[in-house]
Amino acid sequence: MATEAKTALGKVVKMKCPHCGKGHLFANENAFSFSKLGQVKSECTECGTSFNPEPGFYFGAAYVSWGLTVAMWVAILVALKTLNALGVLEFGFLTHPKTFLITGIVFTVLLFPVLFKLSRSIWATSFIK
Ligand SMILES: [Zn+2]
Repeated sequence: MATEAKTALGKVVKMKCPHCGKGHLFANENAFSFSKLGQVKSECTECGTSFNPEPGFYFGAAYVSWGLTVAMWVAILVALKTLNALGVLEFGFLTHPKTFLITGIVFTVLLFPVLFKLSRSIWATSFIK
């Protein structure tokens, strides 16, 4: 039995059907499996809502992905500055740019599958009713 997400935020985070909140949006539910990574099901298995209302529907999710990635880099910068203020790590944006770049690149590579799927889930939940 499929679990149900009732709020828009719950549907986005759990990657559920934007209409009923029960069916899963993606063909492969594991975010870290690269098999069928971004493949969205053609329709909801629970209510039949089409997840592909028009050709190229998910191209716009690239903008959402860009926004999520920028937000992640800003969060990394804030985290590094906080660690610096706490005395845990010596960090300054201009004095230690490699620390920021390496940390950002590592997080970008590690979280790419999650951000990719999350951006499509946000896009679908925003436009499929
Ligand atoms: Zn549904």
